Amino acid sequence: MDQAEVGSLPALWSLPVDNHRVEKTPAKPVEALGSESPRTRVRFPPPPPKEFILKIMNTFPKPKLVLSRCFFEAVRYDGGTIIDPFVEKLKKYIDFISVCPEVDIGLGTPRQRIIVVKEGEDKRLLQPETGKDITLLMENFSVNFLSNLEEVDGFLLKSKSPSCGVGTTKLYVGNNVVGRTYGFFAQAVKERLPHIPLEDEGRLRDSKIREHFLTRIYAFAELRHLKKNFSPKALVEFQSAYKYLLMTYNQKALKELGQMVAKVGKDPENTLKAYEEVFRRAFHKMPSPSKHANTLLHILGHLSRKLNSMEKRHLLSLIQKVKHGRTNHRLVMEILRSIAYRHGEDYLLRQRYFDPFPEELLED
Ligand code: SF4
Repeated sequence: MDQAEVGSLPALWSLPVDNHRVEKTPAKPVEALGSESPRTRVRFPPPPPKEFILKIMNTFPKPKLVLSRCFFEAVRYDGGTIIDPFVEKLKKYIDFISVCPEVDIGLGTPRQRIIVVKEGEDKRLLQPETGKDITLLMENFSVNFLSNLEEVDGFLLKSKSPSCGVGTTKLYVGNNVVGRTYGFFAQAVKERLPHIPLEDEGRLRDSKIREHFLTRIYAFAELRHLKKNFSPKALVEFQSAYKYLLMTYNQKALKELGQMVAKVGKDPENTLKAYEEVFRRAFHKMPSPSKHANTLLHILGHLSRKLNSMEKRHLLSLIQKVKHGRTNHRLVMEILRSIAYRHGEDYLLRQRYFDPFPEELLED
């Protein structure tokens, strides 16, 4: 292979793979062979036309998130900024609104620390060094901020903070830590917007939580774009692209949404409202490995006529491993995607299940 060609599409396209037609070169006269062993020439199908690649290439909407301001500015109680590698990477992919509840209620920077304290069934937000109780101030700020907020696709807040932590904040009784809880602002988000993705950067170090969060913010961003450019036809296409992702997350919702879309022509606006509600709820819970295995089985079923029995058996055993948590679903998904590419299965290739978000966001 010409060195200059290495890595280019034509060069990669000519790499040998199974299942392509293999032809023996015409036998050379024995005296011409010398010590050379018989050579095999492999013929490869031509690359797919550019229009096909463009047709199945998924593009991504830009999610809009609320981010803790200390990821950008020196607003922490000690005057610091937080630099988190994932948040730094994510900033390039999103639009955002920043919030610092503590500065926005007038505490200033730097400031004395505040803590969440359990008092009977209630929680209070206290500043031990000054004796101030800022519970009401923070609750009012949170309600006001969320009431005036434009539509966003999620919240990414700072872990462990008494205002922003998402279940990672220390809970005190007196001077003792008795557990973990939500910061006051995060608690208000959870209560008022129960189906919005809400995470802190600490939890997103877990790759499963990160994948779930990214899937949701990108799905909701795409829904937001759909609402802006709504037509019954666009909703039908949207539902078609999300079929396998919805199957993974919530089969009941998939069915319900399918029934709504079938009748969209009768009352488009109300259908869209009802669709949005069910769609958001559908993504609430992280899918289990067996849900992924079920979706992969359906995709395999779609491709089964293109596969020989050994390939099917191998893929079935891999899917079993996914079901029992011994193999990551993404590995099998990528194999199925390759098969879909080879056979020009553009219906499958347009499925958001294969491309829920830019995959580099999952890499460390
Ligand atoms: S964690 Fe929240 S309240 Fe604390 S500095 Fe960051 S943005 Fe402000």
